[in-house]
Amino acid sequence: MVLILGANYKMNILTTKEFEQKVQGWKIYSRGGLNMSPYTNVPFECGCGKTHKYNNIYTPPFMDNHGNGQMCLMVKECKYLNAVELKGTFNIDRMQNLFSCKFEEKKERYGFTLNNPKIDDEINIWIEERWNLGK
Ligand SMILES: [Zn+2]
Repeated sequence: MVLILGANYKMNILTTKEFEQKVQGWKIYSRGGLNMSPYTNVPFECGCGKTHKYNNIYTPPFMDNHGNGQMCLMVKECKYLNAVELKGTFNIDRMQNLFSCKFEEKKERYGFTLNNPKIDDEINIWIEERWNLGK
C-alpha cells in the first residue's frame, strides 16, 4: 500500500486547550530535554501548512516527552505550536507532525489554563532566549 502525503494529508489542528491536555504529562524543556542541535535543518510539517526546517533559534523546543523523541516546537515565522516525533532509519531525516495549534499570542496566558505545567511561562522563556535573538 502506498500512502501519499502532501496536499491530501490532513493536519491534526487542535485548540490550545486540547493541545495543552495532550502534552500535560510531558516535561517542560527548560528542565532538560533532548539536545536538538544535531537536527538543525531537519524538515517538519507545520500546522500552518508549510514545511519548516528545525532551527534552535526560530523553532525552539518547549516541551519534551521524556526523551522518547517527541517534542513541541514553537515556530516564530507563522506562530504555530507543533508536537513532532523524530523519524529516520539510520539518521533522523524528518520529523512527523503529531498535532498542532495556533499560538494565540494575544490571549491571556496564550490561551493556556493549566498551572502544572504552566506552558505559557515556558513559552515566555524561549521567546526571550531564542525568538528575540533572531529579531
Ligand atoms: Zn508554520
